[in-house]
Amino acid sequence: MSDFAKTKKLFHMPDGVIYLDGNSLGPLPLAARARVVDMMAAEWGNQLIKGWNSAGWMLQPRRIGDRIARLIGAAEGTVVMGDTLSIKVHQALASALELNPERRVVLSDNGNFPSDLYIAQGLLKSLDKGYTLKVVEPEAVEAAIDESVAVMMLTEVDYRTGRLHDMKALTEKAHAAGALTVWDLAHSAGAIPVDLAGAKADFAVGCTYKYLNGGPGAPAFIYVAPEHQDAARPALSGWLGHEAPFAFDLDYRPGAGIDRMRVGTPPIIALAALDAALDAWNGIDMADIRRASIGLTDLFIAEIEKRCPELSLNSPRDGARRGSQVSFRHREGYAIMQALIARGLIGDFRAPDSIRFGFTPLYIGEAEVRAAVGIIEDVVNNRLWDAPDYRKKALVT
Ligand SMILES: *Cc1c(COP(=O)(O)O)cnc(C)c1O
Repeated sequence: MSDFAKTKKLFHMPDGVIYLDGNSLGPLPLAARARVVDMMAAEWGNQLIKGWNSAGWMLQPRRIGDRIARLIGAAEGTVVMGDTLSIKVHQALASALELNPERRVVLSDNGNFPSDLYIAQGLLKSLDKGYTLKVVEPEAVEAAIDESVAVMMLTEVDYRTGRLHDMKALTEKAHAAGALTVWDLAHSAGAIPVDLAGAKADFAVGCTYKYLNGGPGAPAFIYVAPEHQDAARPALSGWLGHEAPFAFDLDYRPGAGIDRMRVGTPPIIALAALDAALDAWNGIDMADIRRASIGLTDLFIAEIEKRCPELSLNSPRDGARRGSQVSFRHREGYAIMQALIARGLIGDFRAPDSIRFGFTPLYIGEAEVRAAVGIIEDVVNNRLWDAPDYRKKALVT
């Protein structure tokens, strides 16, 4: 049984803050701070370059990949860390397209995160082989899967609404039509149970600074299904994905298995923080996370709808069709969110008009949700957002 009273104590939370934005940037795990300080002094400081061997730095991307694999239903040796999520999207899509060389359509939806679509647009343009990116409504994806599709590239949980795709059913349909799949787990990993092996996903990618609490800019991960590992050619063929990086051959030869998806020198300080952050998941059952998350999001929706008639729900009402986040719409959403943040309730705003809240049972419980509802009720119903300061757009929303 997962003990959320215990996991809550593992995080630093500033006084007076209710944090419903762990879906965008997880809070600081106390163990990460300690680990990074220790890593810098004992490893970087004292072992210097020897640390690549003596402190196991070179193996971290694989070792930590295996830790993440357990959270997303992937076998050992199928996940590796490195780079940012946008780069991992590029890698996965490029490899998947090459494995399906006769076809020219990439299918995605307009609920996908823009960076994924931008990366696809850039890659297809560079390939210059007449590819098209077909972007449909999320509800129309299933019907759009046909025998022209080379790769179906989707984000499982919509970053704005929290709408959840049925990964297993869509993957099955894609395979039946002869397409490969790339799943983005940015809002899934650590948020909901994921079963990549069970769904027979071909490729998957995700970031670790959201629900996995690895810190701003923490390294991303990529999953390649075992049956594709020896066939997938990495388009970003860097030396650390080479079969023998320290042979310094002039010609690229892909490394064995998932190692070939490594590109360059791994970010060891960031990996140390992430490694410590992942300790919070020891003894946690993702089914318990899911149960608690649905309880919190259901409560939040019911209370907001009861008390704030001006806000309209922009997320699926059925918990089973929703990730671990909820958003509401209001034409003054931006100013409302700034007023909430000024009162210690941190969520975020997503254009054009959504205020978005993430629910993370590791450190958020019913008390925080009830307190958050009280603040939102006060700000919205009493128009406390109606001040010039709350309308000034910041660089990051
Ligand atoms: C958060 C997020 C990203 C961000 O990509 P980075 O390269 O880490 O900045 C990309 N795709 C999705 C679906 C996301 O939710």
